[in-house]
Amino acid sequence: MASHLANIFGTEQDRVNCSFYYKIGACRHGDRCSRKHIKPPFSQTILLPNVYHNPAHDPVCKLSDKELQEGFDAVYEDLYCELAKFGHLLELHVCDNVGDHLIGNVYARFDLETEAQAAVDNLNTRWYAGRPLYAELSPVTDFREACCRQNENGECNRGGFCNFMHLRLASKDLVSSLKAGQRLERRIHPPAADTGAGGWEPSKRRGRSASPARGGDKYIDSPDHYRPAR
Ligand SMILES: [Zn+2]
Ligand SMILES: [Zn+2]
Repeated sequence: MASHLANIFGTEQDRVNCSFYYKIGACRHGDRCSRKHIKPPFSQTILLPNVYHNPAHDPVCKLSDKELQEGFDAVYEDLYCELAKFGHLLELHVCDNVGDHLIGNVYARFDLETEAQAAVDNLNTRWYAGRPLYAELSPVTDFREACCRQNENGECNRGGFCNFMHLRLASKDLVSSLKAGQRLERRIHPPAADTGAGGWEPSKRRGRSASPARGGDKYIDSPDHYRPAR
């Protein structure tokens, strides 16, 4: 019985724990979910919800695809360089979903749980691009499982309101140069202290703990919230 429970933990067969929170780190039901969202006490992965605002989602946006990609690459590089200050950054993913629980979410996976904890502790006192940041440890371990495979094949008919991650991808050249730069930097210098560069600002207030308000229940009520395992 115990091994059966261990096997189904966080899957769709688990009637107690929410598979969406466990796999994707965010569930459209939020605190009102009928299944449990158990925040991990330790994790290599952190979540910064609602950080990236894609200008393409603005109906009056007149930027070309090239300008949009350049703008996103700049944001990705900024996030990558800042997060790499806390440790060895293994993965950095930015969601392009528009549903309230996934919009602009940034996930970072570090080599060590202590690095992830240091990032959460520091970032919760910071602002980015004029807005306060909220950071938490996330249960996500496998981004292949968290991402929408139909979207990767260009076939997801739920679009930005999908409940699986639709990632905004940085240019391949940028990602490889950031990874190479991180390896070099870590060889030459030990992890450096925060310099507060870029859009990053220290907190203007203290004692912040709540997540940012997310507005109403605007996402599409998709019947496949608990669809069978793929
Ligand atoms: Zn849930
Ligand atoms: Zn999708």
